Amino acid sequence: DLPLIAVCGRPNVGKSTLFNRLTGSRRSIVGDEPGITRDRIYGEIEWMGRDARIVDTGGVVPDDEALIPAEIFRQAKVGLEEADAIVMVVDGRTELASPDLELARLLLRGGKPVFLAVNKMDTDAMQSQAENFRRLGFRNVLPISAEHGSGIGDLLDAVFEVL
Ligand code: GDP
Ligand code: MG
Repeated sequence: DLPLIAVCGRPNVGKSTLFNRLTGSRRSIVGDEPGITRDRIYGEIEWMGRDARIVDTGGVVPDDEALIPAEIFRQAKVGLEEADAIVMVVDGRTELASPDLELARLLLRGGKPVFLAVNKMDTDAMQSQAENFRRLGFRNVLPISAEHGSGIGDLLDAVFEVL
């Protein structure tokens, strides 16, 4: 069985964009089309001659904003159970919200290798901002731009090292 990497995080941080970049597929839905039912989507990824599976825990995003944190947690728990490594994605351009803090706590307690990808760091100048997210408690904090592709190699190097 191939090892599994789970991508977690609240809506709009760029999980699907990252998933699509890593798998080279467009099977994961990007954007915020209302009413579209999204579920976990699995893909395959190859890095330095090794293979893994990856799951985008986009989940079904309910219309009711109040239900969103519950859904993130449900998906994260599935990720914790079945994954060998977890990448939590945050939007480096926005303030941390309480769901980010709670999700981080849940993931850090889960006993699996966890990585924090600080996304939307599109320019070199922004990369240092990722340091602000260290207070979430992750040892591995990696600035990335899922859209532009920067930082992705370092992220994959770090993740594959624990698989
Ligand atoms: P998800 O809800 O976490 O799956 O987020 P999506 O992948 O659907 O992305 C949400 C929005 O953020 C979309 O408009 C993306 O184009 C945008 N986005 C994703 N990654 C980046 C990035 O690296 N830089 C910038 N500027 N925007 C991004
Ligand atoms: Mg998505």
